[in-house]
Order: sequence, then C-alpha cells, then structure tokens
Amino acid sequence: HLGFGKYANVVTHEQMEQMARSGRIVRPSDGRPARSVAFVQCAGSRDPNHLPYCSTVCCMNSLKQALYVREKNPESTVYIFYKDMRTPGLYEGFYGRVQEDEGVFLTKGEVIAISEEGDKRLRLQVNNALLGENIEVKADLVALATGMAPSTLDSQILHLAYRLGGDLPVDKYGFPNSHFICFPYETRRTGIYAAGCVRQPMDTAASARDAAGAALKAIQCIEMTARGATVHPRANDLSYPDFYLKRCTQCKRCTEECPFGTLNEDVKGTPEPNPTRCRRCGICLGACPERIVNFATFSVEMISAMIKAVEVPDETEEKPRVLALVCENDAYPAFDLAGMNRLGYDPNVRIIPVRCLGSINVVWIKDALSRGFDGILMIGCKYGDDYQCHFIKGSELMNTRSDNIREALTSMVLESERVRLEQLALDEYHRIPGLIAEFMETIRAVGFNPFKGM
Ligand code: SF4
Ligand code: SF4
Repeated sequence: HLGFGKYANVVTHEQMEQMARSGRIVRPSDGRPARSVAFVQCAGSRDPNHLPYCSTVCCMNSLKQALYVREKNPESTVYIFYKDMRTPGLYEGFYGRVQEDEGVFLTKGEVIAISEEGDKRLRLQVNNALLGENIEVKADLVALATGMAPSTLDSQILHLAYRLGGDLPVDKYGFPNSHFICFPYETRRTGIYAAGCVRQPMDTAASARDAAGAALKAIQCIEMTARGATVHPRANDLSYPDFYLKRCTQCKRCTEECPFGTLNEDVKGTPEPNPTRCRRCGICLGACPERIVNFATFSVEMISAMIKAVEVPDETEEKPRVLALVCENDAYPAFDLAGMNRLGYDPNVRIIPVRCLGSINVVWIKDALSRGFDGILMIGCKYGDDYQCHFIKGSELMNTRSDNIREALTSMVLESERVRLEQLALDEYHRIPGLIAEFMETIRAVGFNPFKGM
C-alpha cells in the first residue's frame, strides 16, 4: 500500500542515500528536483506480518536525510510520519536540532495509502494519531524507512562442512542464533562469532563495539581450544564425550540431536567426533540408547550411582520420595536463590544436577522408578522461540523424548503423572516451592510407587 515498485517517485532510504551522495535529490520519474519529500517510518518494520522487530537506525536515518533535503534546497519541505521516534542516548540532541528546522514537519501517524497524481506527485493518506483524524499530504518524493533483514535469509554464505548444513542456524527472524541473553556473540557453530548487523540490526557505532566483543570471544576460543577446553557455557571444561564405538548401532540419534553440529558421520552412520567443536553439553550422552557416550566427569554410571545412593523410605514410613534432575545452568542456581531467600520447599525431594535437561538418559528415569522413587521432576530452561536453554534445544529435546519416557512407564505399568518436565528461568526461583508442592500433591493422589522395597 506504500507504492514501492509501482510509483517511480517512491524510493527507499538506500536509494535516497545514493541520490544524496550524487549531489542531486530528484524525482526519479523526470529528474526534476524534489521540493517536497515525505519520509514514512517503520515501512514494514514493527509489523507482525513483515519485519516484527525495530531496525534501530531508520529514525536517525530519516532525520539525517531530512537535513540533506533542507540543506540542498532551503525552500524545500520535509514531512516525517512516525509510529514512535526512536533516538536513544545523545542522538536525542540531533532529533532536537531537526525539530527546530521550520521546514521539517514531524508528526506521529500511520500512512495508510499512497496514490499517484497526474503530474506524478504522490498523495499520502495519513491516519493522524495526534490530531485523531485522517490528513492528506502531497509530496514530490516519498522515502520509505525500510528495515534491515539478514543477508543470510536468501543465500548460503559460509558453506561449512557440517553434517547439519553449510550455514549458521538462524532464529525465527533469520539472524544467527545461540543463547542471545547470556552469550550474545556465540553462534551454534563453535569458533564462529556474529557481530554487527549480522547478529541483529544496529548502527555503525554499535557495530564497531560489537565487533570488538566478538573479536575478544574469538581470541578466548582460540586460547581455550588450544588447551583442549571448551567455550561457553561450560568454559574451561576439559572433559570430552568418549564414544565406545564398538557398541554403536549407528542409530544417528547423537549426530542428529547435537545442537552444535559437532558430530559428522562416516558412510555407515558411525559418529565422528570433532573435539574442537564440542561444547560438552552431554546431549549425546542423553540421546544414546546404548549408553556408550560418557565423560570422565559425567557418565551414565555416575548419575545412576547417585540415584542408587539416595535413601528411599518404604511404604510404612508413609513418606514419598521424589527425584529432581535439575539443569545446572538456570534451574540449579534458581534453587540456590530460593535457599538464599529462605524459601522452604517439601523436604522429600532429592536434587541431582545435570549438564542440561537434554543430557538426561532415559535409563536414569527407569533406574529411579525401579528403585521406588515415587516421582521424577526434570527442571530446565525455557524452550520455544524465546528459548533460554544454554545448549539451544536441550530442554526441548527432553520434551520430545517424552515418548521414550512414556514407553518406559508403560513397560513398568506406572502412571504417566509420575514424571514431569518443568521450565524455570533463573529469576523465577520464587516458583520453586509451589511447583514442588503441586507435584507432591499429584504424587500423593497417584499413590506410592509399587516398586518400593522390591
Ligand atoms: S557433548 Fe554436546 S556438543 Fe559435544 S558432541 Fe555431545 S551433544 Fe555435541
Ligand atoms: S546415539 Fe549411540 S548408538 Fe546411536 S549413533 Fe550415537 S553413539 Fe551410536
């Protein structure tokens, strides 16, 4: 509805910049100087059907280009229609300078239609939020403040030799993704760091600062991998998954589930480890049905032994016993915070930290249930589009593996309510007492585990 591609005198910011650089701001239809120019902010940005995000630079760009027009022709008129004018920090001073220019009219309003007149002038219909009524404005030239989209959206750039694909995995907007809250520069390919507009829309100054951050991360990565250690979030961890490949059935679960594309496969489908790519999340350990993936410091046997070491009260004591397998990244520190804030929770729960919910091997659940635990809670990071999982999709994978858990419960003739997955953010520690109380209530309603005391 904004007429780009239909009317010659509707251009983008980029085309406007090229005209300014050439020294002539003109109507493309006939090459005559543009005496009135209208800027349309958020043209496609902050729109759930197009680019839902703010590109951060467009408001500043229009203010700058408005001055180009005014400086070139002091008789010219400039209109800027915006949803919100975003000029953070000291840029507010520049905004003030443009506001003082009597030839620039800034108004909050939504351009709902643009049409062309016989003389190729453009007529803009504006739903004017400030005056509460529609207004019409005519201009020689319309410049659309179009947003930024990652160049990786349409073409392959890197051609990496990874089984899971040659480019960086991206988020729902097409930017390379990792855990953007805690590790902003990390991508899902170890040793590759995204900065500037590759990572998210930003201006030149922010891109330069961002590049410095990414370069520091790259230096850190080179130093750590040279020592055999991994990078975030298990920085400095020297352990590495050991694959006992003699017993591998080539089921490919580990290669498919590794969130970092660490493992390639040989022709038969046997995993080929790549130590420098590995983040030591343990998801391959959780995925392997043969239980042949283990770390020196984290193994199937180790957690099984911890589960077996927990005292399980018998039926006569009338006390339930619940096992909580808790992700060490957010959920376990959340338990710490609950303790520091003196929040009490049911004393019948025993907690074992794990590297990630994705590192939970279903055999531990079977072990715990056959030992007589009445219920098992798995608590990990949030998943979905706005995930907080430090290993990208570990908690989500555990959720999708719930079919295997259901199978295990059915084979033991146990109720599905005995195993539950909960998502918990670090700042939600106050939910812990309620979350546990609710699970204990469910377990009391289901009754004691019949395997108790066997
Ligand atoms: S530990 Fe994690 S990153 Fe390393 S191979 Fe296993 S799944 Fe991949
Ligand atoms: S998950 Fe285990 S059995 Fe399957 S391919 Fe990987 S190492 Fe082999």
